[in-house]
Amino acid sequence: MSPSICNKCNKEKEMYYKEWCPRCDKPEVKKIESLNLIQVLRYLECNGYPGIKDRIWAYCADIYNFHNDSSFYLGFPDPDIDSRIDYENGVYDDLMTIKNSFNIEDDGILMDVSW
Ligand SMILES: [Zn+2]
Repeated sequence: MSPSICNKCNKEKEMYYKEWCPRCDKPEVKKIESLNLIQVLRYLECNGYPGIKDRIWAYCADIYNFHNDSSFYLGFPDPDIDSRIDYENGVYDDLMTIKNSFNIEDDGILMDVSW
């Protein structure tokens, strides 16, 4: 199926996930949701989840390459698959605690790291 013709400018549309006219459809700045990793962990630690800071910090430092003033995409376990076995002691529950405490519906969230 070839792309259709833009009905505003008659230019052939391009496929970019969906049909898109490079002349008429100006890209929009996306607002990306993010959380501050240290604040998230301190907040949860002070609100009924002792030890979460050390566990998740160690987990993230092991898997994601981050440093001061950086960001990474923290993925959550798929609740439809029992993937508990893929995570060390407590980390599965900790990740689900973060997901649920901040009402995150996506499969992950961008975490800002700064100290
Ligand atoms: Zn157009």
